[in-house]
Amino acid sequence: MATRMPALFFGHGNPMNALLRNPYTEAWGGIGTRLPRPKAILCVSAHWYIQDAAVTVSTAPRTIHDFGGFPRELYQVQYPAPGDPELARRVRDLLAPLAVRMDERWGLDHGTWAVLCHVYPKADIPIVELSIDETQPPSFHHEIGKRLAPLREEGILIVGSGNVVHNLHAYAWGRHPQEPYDWTISFEKRVRELLLAGEHKPLVEYENKLGSEAVLAVPTPDHYLPLLYVIGTRTASEPVVFPVEGVDGGSFSMLAVQVG
Ligand code: ZN
Repeated sequence: MATRMPALFFGHGNPMNALLRNPYTEAWGGIGTRLPRPKAILCVSAHWYIQDAAVTVSTAPRTIHDFGGFPRELYQVQYPAPGDPELARRVRDLLAPLAVRMDERWGLDHGTWAVLCHVYPKADIPIVELSIDETQPPSFHHEIGKRLAPLREEGILIVGSGNVVHNLHAYAWGRHPQEPYDWTISFEKRVRELLLAGEHKPLVEYENKLGSEAVLAVPTPDHYLPLLYVIGTRTASEPVVFPVEGVDGGSFSMLAVQVG
C-alpha cells in the first residue's frame, strides 16, 4: 500500500516565479525533495475556472501560457510532464454521480507549471488538472475535496494552486517593494488560525464569516477556492504546516498550506 500523501496548497503569485530564483521558489524546490515521490499529481488551479467540472485526459498535456504582457522568455517555458488518463477516470468515478467532463483540449496552465517546475523540475510525474466549476458555491468545492481524499492513500499528490490573498488591482507590479497591506496581513492571519484550529466552516463560508477584509483579500473566488479542495481532504487529527510564507507586491499571499 502506498504511503498516505500530504495534500498541498501553493500560493503561486506572479507567473514570473517560473523563471526566478527567490525564497518562494527555493522553498517549492525543498518541498519536492522532502515529500515521498507521488505516483501522479491531481492539480486544481485557479486558472482553470470554468462553467463545469472537467479533468484533463491528454497523455501529453500542453503547456498553456495563459497571461499577457510578460517577457518572451516566459512564453518559451515548457513543462512536458505526461498526463494520466487512468487518474482522470478515477477522479470521474470518485465524483460520480456528479458529471465530470473528460477534457481533451486543456493542458497545464501557469497555476500548475509555474510552481511545479520548481517542485519537480524534471517534469517526470504525471499530472491531471481538475477544473473549478465557477457556477458552484464554496461548499461544493470543499465537498469535492472530501470526495477526492481517498486518492491520498493511492500515492496521488493533491495540489491546489491559487493565493489565499489575491488582489490584482492592488498588486505592485513595479520595481519598488510594497509593504503588505493591513487587510492582507489580517486576512491571512485569520486563515492560518482557523487552519491550525481545524475550523474549516468559517473558511468555507469566508464571504460572510471572515469580515470585511474578505472583500479586498478575495475580490474574486478563483484563487481562494483551491484551498478548499486541499483542506477538504484533511482528516480531523491531521496536522497543518505552512512550508512557504510571505507576501508579494502587497496583496499576494504566498502562503503554502500542507495537510498531513
Ligand atoms: Zn494566478
